[in-house]
Amino acid sequence: MRLRNIKGAQERILEDKYTIQTDGTNGSDYRGLWNKEIFHNDKPIHIEIGMGKGKFIMELASQNPDINYIGIEKYSSVLIRALEKREALESDNLMFLRMDAENIEDYFAPEEVARIYLNFSDPWPKDRHSKRRLTSREFLKRYDKILAKDGILQFKTDNRPLFDFSLEEIKESGWILDEYTFNLHKNGPAANNIMTEYEEKFYNLGNPICKLVAHR
Ligand code: SAM
Repeated sequence: MRLRNIKGAQERILEDKYTIQTDGTNGSDYRGLWNKEIFHNDKPIHIEIGMGKGKFIMELASQNPDINYIGIEKYSSVLIRALEKREALESDNLMFLRMDAENIEDYFAPEEVARIYLNFSDPWPKDRHSKRRLTSREFLKRYDKILAKDGILQFKTDNRPLFDFSLEEIKESGWILDEYTFNLHKNGPAANNIMTEYEEKFYNLGNPICKLVAHR
């Protein structure tokens, strides 16, 4: 999902109080300091990488005031949509970070994150691009650094080849699968599940939604 040429997106993001800038100004200044400097509490930090327009993480944040959430998105043109929606959220437990997840270790200290959500990540179908998939072993190595010892990774997608690849990468990387399904909504919308924008779209099209949860 890349929305091109949104006029004023950069400027709007730069002045947003809930978005941490990563344009060489203060981006990685909060590595290891998210709770102390940004949230001003000791609550666990959960992040979503590739949040898109942010529906999922915004609903999580409003339901779970005892968790600190950080929504990560690579493109300003997409992040701007999340900012617009965030205006309706009154709580302070959700921040946004515009960055490429390849650099995630620059932004989080070892064990700083308790949970990572990946939802409908870009599939990068060509083999030669497999390292760019957010569930590749290369990314799992990065998550291994920033996740707390008992931290968990949750992934949802309707893309079966990407899901199969992810199951394999998790196994090869020595992670442990806590649960997985190839059809989360087999019996109608699953309980205790927040649908992302993509999930809603694909569920309505009748695509089975896959989900896994894993830890090291
Ligand atoms: N998670 C949302 C959902 O389920 O509705 C959006 C899914 S969309 C297919 C994938 C999103 O991940 C896009 O907004 C894209 O810009 C973002 N993304 C892809 N690669 C990324 C990366 N390396 N770092 C941060 N965000 C990334």
